[in-house]
Amino acid sequence: MVEKEAMYTLTYGLFVLTTTDGEKQNGCIVNTVSMITDNPKRITVFVNKANYSEELLRKTGVFNVSVLTESAPFEIFKQFGFQSGRDVDKFEGGRYEMSENGLYYLPTHTNAVLSGKVIDCYDYGTHTLFVAEVTEAKKLSNEKSVTYEYYQSNIKPKPAAPKTEEKAEDGKHKWVCKICGYTHEGETLPDDFICPWCKHPAEDFEQVS
Ligand code: FE
Repeated sequence: MVEKEAMYTLTYGLFVLTTTDGEKQNGCIVNTVSMITDNPKRITVFVNKANYSEELLRKTGVFNVSVLTESAPFEIFKQFGFQSGRDVDKFEGGRYEMSENGLYYLPTHTNAVLSGKVIDCYDYGTHTLFVAEVTEAKKLSNEKSVTYEYYQSNIKPKPAAPKTEEKAEDGKHKWVCKICGYTHEGETLPDDFICPWCKHPAEDFEQVS
């Protein structure tokens, strides 16, 4: 059997992935950036196909990875993770800097920016795996990189305890996404439900009322 708890022991960082459609730049949150070879410097990143960034990266092949630190506020995760670049300009009005490839990166709440040029991509059903050459890498601070585990215990707001009076009399119930905090209200939570914010499946939801 595959125990879910065992899978949770793997460690991940959290990153803002910047891509471009040629005019507008887009950012999303990813948790799977790894270095695969040191010479030459190559990294991989998995991107969920539900993210607009996946489409942009397949088309343009250039990206930045801003490495988020423990000081990153929840707002950054909301801004880049819980809305779609198809609907909004996620970089509008913010304080960003540009690397040599012309893409934005986050100069604060980060400790490094890596620029990548895609050399291979592999289709893995829900996700695409991109392999990239690092074209620029810059250290930004000495803050500690945030881990997914740290985000879960210290940054993500805790779901409010359900109040008894909220208990549905009209047949409505509430489920909270354990990953991002999104609340689904309804009579049921369908098995094929996908969190509109973080794209995690129904099994990552917890019924709270
Ligand atoms: Fe979620």
